[in-house]
Amino acid sequence: MVQLKDQYELFINGQWQAPQAKKYFATINPSDESHLSNIAWATEADVDLAVKAARNAYENVWSKLSGAERGKYLFRIARLMQEKARELAVLETLDGGKPIKESRDIDIPLACNHFFYYAGWADKLQEAFAGQQIESLGVAGQITPWNFPLLMLAWKIAPALACGNTVVLKPAETTSLTALKFAEICQEAGLPAGVVNIITGYGDTGAALVVHPDVNKIAFTGSTAVGKQIQKACIGTDKKLTLELGGKSANIILEDAAIDQAVEGVINAIFYNQGHVCCAGSRLYVQESIAAHVIEKLKFRLQSIYVGNPLDKNTDIGAINSKKQLETIEKYISLGREEGAEIYQPACQLPSKGYYCLPTLFTDVAQSARIAQEEIFGPVLAIQTFRTIDEVLQKANNSPYGLAAGVWTDKGARIFGLSSQLRAGVVWANTYNKFDPASPFGGYKESGFGREGGVHGLSAYLKITN
Ligand code: NAD
Repeated sequence: MVQLKDQYELFINGQWQAPQAKKYFATINPSDESHLSNIAWATEADVDLAVKAARNAYENVWSKLSGAERGKYLFRIARLMQEKARELAVLETLDGGKPIKESRDIDIPLACNHFFYYAGWADKLQEAFAGQQIESLGVAGQITPWNFPLLMLAWKIAPALACGNTVVLKPAETTSLTALKFAEICQEAGLPAGVVNIITGYGDTGAALVVHPDVNKIAFTGSTAVGKQIQKACIGTDKKLTLELGGKSANIILEDAAIDQAVEGVINAIFYNQGHVCCAGSRLYVQESIAAHVIEKLKFRLQSIYVGNPLDKNTDIGAINSKKQLETIEKYISLGREEGAEIYQPACQLPSKGYYCLPTLFTDVAQSARIAQEEIFGPVLAIQTFRTIDEVLQKANNSPYGLAAGVWTDKGARIFGLSSQLRAGVVWANTYNKFDPASPFGGYKESGFGREGGVHGLSAYLKITN
């Protein structure tokens, strides 16, 4: 299904170029620790070349095209991605460890949909911002995380190009392969050289992109700690900045909720993509009167979750993305025990090689516990109970983060009441983890600022004056 190269170069100005320092790093398959390929490690000099290529393409080609012409390229890219959907899904699973049923049915179709959606906007920007003056920004520097590699690329590149900008994108170091495949798709689509540049590498490569003086916009998705560093680096410059950062989202079950539906929703909210989801429902609040019943059902449901080879279509939880991330999750599981919470993990045989973690529930968790306050980014759920709506609102909002939340109840009035008071960018009602390119996504507080998706996602890539 996929033909991997022994070595991948940088994609600059429409061509594959070796990194100037001739440095490469290994990318491995987290499901069995096997070596997949070597990836070019871009340094400052390569970043400079990529930004120059993007600037040249912006000044001389892309900014001169009509919106309709830009849209044609985006539609072409979207169709090519659809044609190669199986290959992209396998690559994503090999490199990142997520179950194939998720990369096949969610990541790749959503990434294609983003390109289709923004392709449609390319010639209607003036309608989106009627009565206002709009201008593209120039060169966008974009940095993505490892949990949804191609999808995060689509969230960034599709609106940037639709609005007339050119891009330099740096994927996360553990999951570069689908971004590099995307570069091939750009070539096949005949995208003018320099409009999209993909530079691979670690944090130092991203940092060099952030401080490059000829970059007009930085779009970053990743951890809050790195987001803060980037925000500091952009102070005093005229770079436009959007930050999509971490989360510790509250999922709230009221006593009138449809319990079985809510239990499935909780499972999806925390175990989807091994819990490597910025908006994962990692704090569960259950109303006291139904708590014992819900926890019993959750424990029972956990026994039928299949953890294993991500390429197996039956797998529910695949491999943890890296050894480093597995160590982080294990540290938090030990912390949870030390903090006095009660742990439940189903009896289940994990593969002997690769990075795997059992789905984990913690009950009797204190609001101040670190497992209830800090982002774990793994399949670990901290469960608490509450008596009144006021109490749960206070607890749910008592977090440095504010990315998403879930509310499970039979009553529409309670949905409206809670969702208007929860300090979160997205609130799902009687569902969880539903994404659509037409819906904006983004955070409050330490979960970042700016929105991606929908019309809001266009404004992040335009200079708008009244
Ligand atoms: P990370 O911050 O470690 O890395 C993200 C990206 O930034 C990578 O490409 C990395 O190489 C690069 N990077 C690292 N240091 C840098 C620096 N100093 N300057 C510039 N770039 C740098 O995050 P991660 O571990 O890859 O991803 C997980 C995090 O991403 C979680 O906190 C998760 O919540 C967050 N996330 C947020 C969203 C969202 O939409 N809010 C979506 C997905 C992931």
